[in-house]
Amino acid sequence: MPHPADKILNIHELDHDQLNDWCRSLGIEPYRAKQVMRWIYTRGADDFEEMTDIAKSVRKLLAERFFISSLEIKKVENAHDGSRKYLFGLSDGNGIETVLIPEKNHYTLCISTQVGCAMGCRFCMTAKTGLIRNLTRGEIIGQVLGVQKDIGGDKRLKNIVLMGMGEPLANYSPVVSALQHITNNDTGLGFSNRRVTLSTSGMVSKFEDLARDTRVRLAVSLNASDDKTRSLLMPINRTYPLEQLIDACARYPLTPRDKITFEYILIRDVNDSPEDALRLSKLLRPVKAKINLIPFNPHPASEFERPEEERILNFQAVLCQKNYTAMIRRSKGSDISAACGQLSAKQAAL
Ligand code: SAH
Ligand code: SF4
Repeated sequence: MPHPADKILNIHELDHDQLNDWCRSLGIEPYRAKQVMRWIYTRGADDFEEMTDIAKSVRKLLAERFFISSLEIKKVENAHDGSRKYLFGLSDGNGIETVLIPEKNHYTLCISTQVGCAMGCRFCMTAKTGLIRNLTRGEIIGQVLGVQKDIGGDKRLKNIVLMGMGEPLANYSPVVSALQHITNNDTGLGFSNRRVTLSTSGMVSKFEDLARDTRVRLAVSLNASDDKTRSLLMPINRTYPLEQLIDACARYPLTPRDKITFEYILIRDVNDSPEDALRLSKLLRPVKAKINLIPFNPHPASEFERPEEERILNFQAVLCQKNYTAMIRRSKGSDISAACGQLSAKQAAL
């Protein structure tokens, strides 16, 4: 006899088709799947008993097979600038971090896609952990649901960025399934594609699949304008050097008003000279690009330093002269080491 707990599954792990199949296998009308998903994702139900327009017998079958659960918040830290870092506990005892960042008129949520990361970038805190495991679809969606619940369904949560722990394209299927759900207006969370951004270190092999499977925006962590420097900072550059990366970006299908965002961490005496800026402007010429300059956020696990303010402004000026939109992104939440993309796996804190 299987233990009853073995039969129970978090319903967030299933997409609409899978729930349809399950309904069909039990002789339940397939339109019930849509009804259940709307109850959960539009109306915020977290118990099948709330679904009063679904027959009691069907609710019982659902409850025997599934539970509805967002992730458990273990800890919340507030930064002086209003950012909030959530530490979520996973069922196997691992932990992940999600950061809510206030902007002028809305919130941006920075979510994780893996516990740790295998890519080994030299400047990144997550890299020090190595890859512990991939997140499931339910755990990726669960971060959004958990934060939405905590902020009481505040409608100002409009933007989602996949810039927390992990390389999203190295965990392709669960990430795409979660993105399709997050942007689905009918049975999902209804976020606009234009307001969801996937950031990658440059896993070129997955670009075509991503463009086919989603319409979310693409951001690429570039961080250098020549192969020698980029390979030093980001080992993935040895697999997909700049020529391949830029070529894949140039071919990436975009809507007429869309651009690819290139993130460039400015690190003192490594990639912050006016010559670097000029080379960057030439490198990106084949692409519809905008650039986010992120002054390096120092942390104890890295020997790198942030450039002087003047050097940062100079770098930006070169790019602006070359007609690029280049914004300087001041890391939010740095006093709680919650700067997006600089999340640490502080397991001990969980
Ligand atoms: N793995 C994906 C997404 C997560 S990293 C990627 O690399 O794009 C998200 C962003 O945070 C990346 O652009 C990364 O370059 C940046 N980042 C990592 N460590 C940082 C640090 N110490 N200071 C500033 N930005 C950092
Ligand atoms: Fe992974 Fe991104 Fe950090 Fe590189 S920058 S180690 S890809 S999380």
